[in-house]
Amino acid sequence: DPRLQAISQAIRVVPHFPKHGIMFQDITTLLLDHKAFKDTVDIFVDRYRDMHISVVAGIEARGFMFGPSIALGIGAKFVPLRKPRKLPGEVISEKYALEYGTDCLELHVGAVQPGERAIVIDDLVATGGTLSAGVKLLGDLQPLFGVGEGLSLFVYILFFFISLVMVQWMWSLLS
Ligand code: 5GP
Repeated sequence: DPRLQAISQAIRVVPHFPKHGIMFQDITTLLLDHKAFKDTVDIFVDRYRDMHISVVAGIEARGFMFGPSIALGIGAKFVPLRKPRKLPGEVISEKYALEYGTDCLELHVGAVQPGERAIVIDDLVATGGTLSAGVKLLGDLQPLFGVGEGLSLFVYILFFFISLVMVQWMWSLLS
């Protein structure tokens, strides 16, 4: 995609920020460049437009800079995944490991219904820990037994009863 090179060039690289040895990818310079910013959003909108996605979940804080525009573009709702004690309502939480220590993401109960299709948006993936926590948080909303799980539960129960009948039959042959 010819737009990617300009997008990449619009992201400033800041050496040794926030600490020595880190090459920080600063997306605030991308936001200053209208064309590169719009192209970034358009690429995601084009990719996810016809996939029946009803939820765009943005990870605090820089996921909030791209997520709402993508949500509007694909006709989905925007749901913030926030750091602890920022959301006022009842929440579900997901802890995740950082390079040093742990962090946590929270989601308002009721913001997303089980079975809705969602994408999770952030500005950058490094180890993938933050994004995985966001995906897991939404995955936790799945019903305990959906159609697939319900079917396999039925098969397990059936298998259990068939085994029971076979044991009784073998027992009757032996006695
Ligand atoms: P991960 O959990 O994948 O190791 O780190 C990704 C998270 O850290 C994202 O939420 C992202 O905002 C932040 N992050 C880590 N390194 C950078 C960076 O170089 N630039 C920006 N903009 N964010 C970063």
